[in-house]
Amino acid sequence: MFQFCAGIANDSPLRFQASMKLSDDLKYTDQLLQLTKDFSNRFLSVADKLAPHKVFHSLPAVALPQTGIGGAATLEKFRQLYGDQLTAASGPRFWGFVTGGVTPAALMGDWLTSAMDLNVSSSGTVATCIEEDTLRQLKSLFGIPAEFLGAFVSGATMANFTGLAIARQWLGLQQGVDVAADGMNALQDVRILSSVPHSSILKSMSMLGLGRNSLVRIPALPNRESVDLQALENYLKEHPNQPFIYIANAGTVNTVDFDDIAAIVALKQQYNFWLHVDAAFGGFAACSTEYKSLLNGWEAADSITVDAHKWLNVPYDAAMIFNRHPELQVSVFQNPGAAYLGDPLREFHYNNYIPENSRRLRALPAWFSLQAYGREGYQYIVENNVHLARKLGTLIASDPRLKLLAPVRLCVVCFTLDVPEETQADAVSGFLTALNNSGVVYMTRTQYQGQPAIRAALVNWRTTEKDIQLVWDTIQQLLT
Ligand SMILES: *Cc1c(COP(=O)(O)O)cnc(C)c1O
Repeated sequence: MFQFCAGIANDSPLRFQASMKLSDDLKYTDQLLQLTKDFSNRFLSVADKLAPHKVFHSLPAVALPQTGIGGAATLEKFRQLYGDQLTAASGPRFWGFVTGGVTPAALMGDWLTSAMDLNVSSSGTVATCIEEDTLRQLKSLFGIPAEFLGAFVSGATMANFTGLAIARQWLGLQQGVDVAADGMNALQDVRILSSVPHSSILKSMSMLGLGRNSLVRIPALPNRESVDLQALENYLKEHPNQPFIYIANAGTVNTVDFDDIAAIVALKQQYNFWLHVDAAFGGFAACSTEYKSLLNGWEAADSITVDAHKWLNVPYDAAMIFNRHPELQVSVFQNPGAAYLGDPLREFHYNNYIPENSRRLRALPAWFSLQAYGREGYQYIVENNVHLARKLGTLIASDPRLKLLAPVRLCVVCFTLDVPEETQADAVSGFLTALNNSGVVYMTRTQYQGQPAIRAALVNWRTTEKDIQLVWDTIQQLLT
């Protein structure tokens, strides 16, 4: 297997100056950044050869030094300790979960974010203006109306949490109570409807005091992960005058299925519910003229989650929450009575609209990547990934030893081994372990319609036809 350390030039005069301290490091910032750049560059240049994933349960503990060793020696120590263990989770064949990898321009933005170390908390700073500008560009990319208030949070889990917190406030107002002020005890009979919600919705419901058991699962269409609209309408009809929160899925993790959002929006005319759309990665269908109709209607949602460290291919950790009810958002997230933070109801500051107060300028990697590659760049990334996922799906469907469990709608291939049911769990587990241990690719396990299954999610900008071939060859070797 390819070793990252092999071939690293070992000629830096700074490397062994173990006496460097903070003040020296300031003096040598240029050289430290150069060393870091060389290390990063080396890593990125082999990211298509490194194993995408290795399992570690622990590595040797490193003692806290009494006297520090300075930045250069620390980099060398890091290289020695971890260099050979590093994995290319941002490389072209990490197909686990639904995560992308940093684009070159996003890396530039991310490096600058740390170099400048700006806090995007209060308005009236260049950092806030950059975040606002990035969100404007993203709304334009996705076709989300300008009146949505956007904000960066750390991931789609936090975006869902934020959207649900605003929805909870809305639900309270429907009952004439202010949950932000009076707490969950003021709220009665909470029901959150969804068909196949992401696990982070349940986690958010727990964190928000709504409780996981307040989820009402509306059946999906047969052999689909898209809500059965008739079943949804029946439920709404049976509970007249009761306000609900509905979580629409725009891209499920197993089969990238979408709720018919336009039809759900039409139901909003007759029934009283908050519509949150979890479009963590499915929102990127909007980048493609071919697939954007999957999101029809989402512009009429109340709140929308889109992840950035997935198909936008910016580094962790970043996602966006878009919401059209800023007055509810500020009632939930304001910092009341903190005079030094300004009046939350009269001035706009991000710290009054999201869970975090202080936070990094995590919009900047997105700003760089959007400017560097534009609308066409993202259309290319999305369509290329979908094309490759379909290609893999066709190969799998053509092999009698494998079974494709759902049509490849966008970027995820969900399949299993075609073996007798009683041996399937062990067979799938053994096969997946061997496949991941090959060092060629990483996929994740799942359960789809009662069957143990495997999913490959292709959202990385670096993935090419060659990667599909390489993975297919590896699968063939393991099957023989
Ligand atoms: C990944 C994902 C999430 C959670 O995202 P994180 O960025 O891991 O917090 C939520 N919903 C969907 C549909 C997802 O795919």
